[in-house]
Amino acid sequence: YTYALRAEVGLPTVTQDGKAVLLLANASTVAEVQEGLAWGAAGLGLLRTELLFMERPDLPSEEEQLALYAAVGAVMPGLPITVRTLDVGGDKYLEAFPMPHEENPFLGWRGVRIGLSRPELLLTQMRALLRAGAHADIRIMIPMVTTIDEVRQARALLQQAMAELEAEGVEYNHTPQLGVMIEVPAAALNAEALAREADFFSLGTNDLTQYTLACDRGNSRIASLYQPLDPAILRLIGMTCAAAHRHGRMVTVCGELGGDPQATPILLGLGVDELSCGPNSLPLVRAAIRAITSSDATKLAERALACANAAEVQALLI
Ligand code: PEP
Ligand code: MG
Repeated sequence: YTYALRAEVGLPTVTQDGKAVLLLANASTVAEVQEGLAWGAAGLGLLRTELLFMERPDLPSEEEQLALYAAVGAVMPGLPITVRTLDVGGDKYLEAFPMPHEENPFLGWRGVRIGLSRPELLLTQMRALLRAGAHADIRIMIPMVTTIDEVRQARALLQQAMAELEAEGVEYNHTPQLGVMIEVPAAALNAEALAREADFFSLGTNDLTQYTLACDRGNSRIASLYQPLDPAILRLIGMTCAAAHRHGRMVTVCGELGGDPQATPILLGLGVDELSCGPNSLPLVRAAIRAITSSDATKLAERALACANAAEVQALLI
């Protein structure tokens, strides 16, 4: 099927009734960005930056980070590029500074919590992103946000980084967008308040599923509990979209669910504006977007929200 879908790479990602849905790629390396572009991505919805920081004894310098972000920008000139700030902790460790053993690492020192307690780390990354943003449409996204205070602190750091670059006479993006990953249930439940402070939302459905269903995403013993289509999660997605739209913010899905063509109609029906997925999923999700109408998607989402469990939702999709 992929061969046949290759011919559709250039076709617009619009629904049958003409609603445009931005289709973006997830990537961790420049090679993956190139692959995403080859499969017709309209930009990046998630550039993971962990690889740059891991398996080395030191932290990457601002210049080294700038080189990667600029290289990514050069592959996708003019297209939106959403870069997630460092998201280690949980099961990902850094050698550059001690990350003590924790009883519950996924509920511990992770994502933006590390960035805010090590502000020089986040500041350096933001400076590099602002500098790369002088020549590319680079947006900054904060992982693992739980409270509005984290967004405010991240924004203050971003402003500090801009003030520093201004004082140094270095070129930078004067109007950076700062977005928030919605992957903790509290963030979805407080989306209304977060939407006032964030420029955009991106749903991390992998962690949102893990935290909502209290189910370790990597534990095979409870794998049957890990159901991204559970109505509880769909409800959180719908609430997030409604709150975002009341404040004129866009919502992307960048978790695995964004790359599942079976889920595409439900996600669009719940109000998701943009989908981001691994390069290999792009053709299937493009075909799924092009196959549906907005009103069918809305009706499907309503029926899914009335379901009692993921199996009932799944049954609607066949
Ligand atoms: C997610 O949680 O859905 C996500 C996109 O982030 P990661 O998979 O990198 O934790
Ligand atoms: Mg995540």
